[in-house]
Amino acid sequence: MDDYLDALFEHVRTLNPGEDVFHQAVHEVLESLGPALVKNPQYRDAGILERMIEPERQIVFRVPWIDDYGKVQVHRGYRVEYNSALGPYKGGLRFHPSVNISIVKFLGFEQIFKNSLTRQGIGGGKGGSNFDPHGKSDNEVMRFCQSFMTELYRHIGEYTDVPAGDIGVGAREIGYMFGQYKRLTNRYEAGVLTGKGLGWGGSLARTEATGYGTVLFAESMMHQHGEGFDGQRVVVSGSGNVAIYAIEKAQQLGATVVSFSDSSGYVVDEEGVDVDLLRQIKEVERGRVSDYVDHKSSAELVTGGSVWDVPCTVALPCATQNELDEAAARTLVNNGVKVVAEGANMPCTPEAVEIFQLAECLFAPGKAANAGGVATSALEMEQNASREQWSFDKAEAKLTKIMKTIHDECAETAEAYGQPGDYVLGANIAGFTRVADAMLAQGIV
Ligand code: NDP
Repeated sequence: MDDYLDALFEHVRTLNPGEDVFHQAVHEVLESLGPALVKNPQYRDAGILERMIEPERQIVFRVPWIDDYGKVQVHRGYRVEYNSALGPYKGGLRFHPSVNISIVKFLGFEQIFKNSLTRQGIGGGKGGSNFDPHGKSDNEVMRFCQSFMTELYRHIGEYTDVPAGDIGVGAREIGYMFGQYKRLTNRYEAGVLTGKGLGWGGSLARTEATGYGTVLFAESMMHQHGEGFDGQRVVVSGSGNVAIYAIEKAQQLGATVVSFSDSSGYVVDEEGVDVDLLRQIKEVERGRVSDYVDHKSSAELVTGGSVWDVPCTVALPCATQNELDEAAARTLVNNGVKVVAEGANMPCTPEAVEIFQLAECLFAPGKAANAGGVATSALEMEQNASREQWSFDKAEAKLTKIMKTIHDECAETAEAYGQPGDYVLGANIAGFTRVADAMLAQGIV
């Protein structure tokens, strides 16, 4: 990085002490932008980056609720409305005990560039709470969601800020939050939240979109080298929404997915994952990966070590940030991995990314590879606005086209900047440029 970018990064660290993952996300973007700023000095003159790294608005609030034993519980809620140059703030809500302002800002910052890559007129935002839905009854989750929305509703709207799901927030939580929003505002404003149920404004293919999109992005990268998923041996981390549909699409394309995980361990199934069984356990029964081995004799549960110890040619990290570190990257490379595509947000540490790039693996950063989720959320907003519901095939065809366009823009941008195959640089510069141009046109706001 040059002196200007170094100084900017120091400023971010000083102004946001202790926010390590936020620093990491900013550093990863700044590291790529040097050549774009040399080519476009107007961005520096207009203070584009100085403004882009500062969220437009940060909302932090108390979420009190009463558990099933009558005890008062208090959690903290967040919504960071990061950048609205391209459209209403758009990004998910994460409910997980680890959630803090640093995590929400890192996710919101990433979302600016991701949403820009989709070309759908959506700005960047993110939110959540340190509430953990695991082990809570449906009634407890409902009371929490209602309390969360009782504050959040005044900040959101279909033309203002449109939240969706993320870790710990699926169709159940979106349903409870939508119900409370409707009650508080007396409006059936379907476009205020995405990830809704199919009978009340949701889009077909939204559930599948992030996982499918990640695999489609990886497939586009592989096609450039005359390869495809057919015959590949794939390892996926996580067993939530993104992981399940990444597994499904990879297997539809002819790969064998041999492993998946959760925070308690990983499962190896050399026969290939039975995705219907996994979906039943995780989505219907809300079980753990350990339940899978009780139903499938070819599967083995491993509670120590890492899912990345399992040899594969394609690795799809789909759980959480910084889950794949330098040691895991070395193991994967030594075991012959050729393609790594991030289904999760920033799952690979910077050291791991460097190892993949040095080993000339095809590496897809999350802000490009997992953009299919938010892209299909924007398609859901489009259907809500026109009061239509498209078929699964129509929504999936649009998703497929969007992922191909994102892939091609990242590849072409990397090439134009003299770094062919560097999808990190391509995604960061392409995502940044569209937002920067809009900010230039809109003046100093
Ligand atoms: P889910 O809550 O559906 O699933 C998360 C999965 O990751 C679970 O299997 C969970 O296991 C596992 N996990 C979470 N934290 C850890 C941890 N610290 N160590 C090991 N495993 C962990 O979330 P999603 O599938 O929706 O999200 C996964 C990732 O994808 C996140 O990074 C999210 O930001 C990103 N993403 C999601 C999108 C979406 O549309 N849902 C869109 C774009 C990105 P356990 O149950 O044990 O915690």
